[in-house]
Amino acid sequence: MSQNIITEEKVFEEMKKAVAETLRVDEGRIKPETSLIKDLGAESLDFLDINYRLEQAFGIKMARHFVLEHIEEMFGEGTAIDENGQLTDKAIQLLKIRFGDSAPEMASGMDMDEVPTLVTAQSMVRGVMDILDSLPNKCPKCGNASWRADNGVRVTCSSCGEAAAFSNGDDLIKEWLKKVQSEKSLF
Ligand SMILES: [Zn+2]
Repeated sequence: MSQNIITEEKVFEEMKKAVAETLRVDEGRIKPETSLIKDLGAESLDFLDINYRLEQAFGIKMARHFVLEHIEEMFGEGTAIDENGQLTDKAIQLLKIRFGDSAPEMASGMDMDEVPTLVTAQSMVRGVMDILDSLPNKCPKCGNASWRADNGVRVTCSSCGEAAAFSNGDDLIKEWLKKVQSEKSLF
């Protein structure tokens, strides 16, 4: 289900703000296809900072673990990354489904250390949208369907004032993996 209270444009706006403040770069440098690592020099600690800013802005919990870690947890050690630290063909297939087919480095033998370079502003926006889209139809406290977003980012119930609760990012990745697995039987 997808909510239509917070738009993708609004999420991208907040994403640019979070990235620009964390990395001290001009917002104008941040395009949807911008790789935070390759193009803006982000390091792993910066992602914690960016995620924290987004969590505060929207009242959500971002994923703590990357999709590869979830694959190994769900389907067993070695299913995503082989003994040489390279991605398995199945993991590559899965990343293509998730991130699209555009990155040329996404091919057999890709090193696991290269994977974070695939994270773009747009893929992070998608992650936030997935979380926001877990908003239930009705407020669990009062049962009314009257969500609204204060300042365009914080969803609350306009009937009873309850803050919206969303699924967390890691749970949504697991759900997505289960869905892909049931459709494609990759693992
Ligand atoms: Zn309510």
